[in-house]
Amino acid sequence: MKCCAVIVAAGSGSRMGGPKQFLPLLGRSVVEWSLDAFLKVPEVEQVVLVLSRSDLEKRGRDLASQKVLVIEGGSTRLESVRNGFREVPEDADVVAIHDGARPLITPEIIQAVIEEAQASGAALPAVPVRDTLKKVANKQLWITATPARSLLWAAQTPQCYRREVLAETLEKFASQKEATDESQLVERAGHKVKVVPSTAENFKITYPEDMAVSEALLKRRMGLSDRPAVGFGFDIHKLVVGRPLWLGGVKIEHAKGLLGHSDGDVILHAAADAVLGALGEGEIGLFFPPGEASTKGIESRKIVAEVMEKLKNRRGSLLNLDVTVVAEEPKLAPHYPKIKETLSTLFGLPPERVNLKAKTHEGLDALGQGLAIGCYATATLLLAN
Ligand code: MG
Repeated sequence: MKCCAVIVAAGSGSRMGGPKQFLPLLGRSVVEWSLDAFLKVPEVEQVVLVLSRSDLEKRGRDLASQKVLVIEGGSTRLESVRNGFREVPEDADVVAIHDGARPLITPEIIQAVIEEAQASGAALPAVPVRDTLKKVANKQLWITATPARSLLWAAQTPQCYRREVLAETLEKFASQKEATDESQLVERAGHKVKVVPSTAENFKITYPEDMAVSEALLKRRMGLSDRPAVGFGFDIHKLVVGRPLWLGGVKIEHAKGLLGHSDGDVILHAAADAVLGALGEGEIGLFFPPGEASTKGIESRKIVAEVMEKLKNRRGSLLNLDVTVVAEEPKLAPHYPKIKETLSTLFGLPPERVNLKAKTHEGLDALGQGLAIGCYATATLLLAN
């Protein structure tokens, strides 16, 4: 059985003051947690991630992969679902539609709902409501009815359908612009939809306080300590004529570059050392000994990848990076956006969690005379208990 998931994350987040799907949550963004859960389900062969145009431009390239197709959404949720459905491969048996703002979805729930949809045609995860619900029909806030609670379930996502069921429904309601979920249309189209008991943890981030709850639940799930570890890194390389200048994984046009056994990228070296420091794993020189022929001219992004692998093996979660470059030349401010973007990609952090600043050395010492570039960095992370 083959499943294609459509994750809709094109909303503007009007109740959160910005797109909630990209708020930072334990070292990655909300939508990346959702994406990660789907990528862990073997039946999910393809994910179509639907973003707003601006997010597509800003983050599309980083989120896309062999399994993840990133496309532009529409002006309503239903239009975004339609755009996503157009990209579903012909041979998909089941289509799963998921809210990008439900980061606590688990591979187990996804799998259970996919299987039920394959068997029944349509299924969604839901939980019995906890509170007694009231129907309030007017502005004076008078209650007009109390539906029997025992019959009420709160619907979640992923809502899963056999491909032909969703295709028929979307065609039947082609002129419909809005719907809070697809299931109501599938029901109106005459199909039976089955509920799969889920957990209340799979809630949709709607209000700012939901972020704190999500973070606490994820920490518990991952067994992360509440006490952050801080690491510090420092590096300095000589600035010489005839070398390319690499800073923060970005090649910068300049008459001089940094001398070193590797590409001499002081920012990546200091930042990688900061992460190793917080892990208590020494320094990059232990893993990439200077002078060893096999690592001569190595791209420093490979050093970072190795360090991030160590972080992953320790089940750690990077919270932020703070980087201070000390350089007389070149002027770095014009390169900040590109360097920040690259650091956020290499270290798997949302851009808001990467801070970059540059200082001169006031003409003092070798740094001040422009003979070298230095860098200080700190990294904060949470480790598994
Ligand atoms: Mg170095």
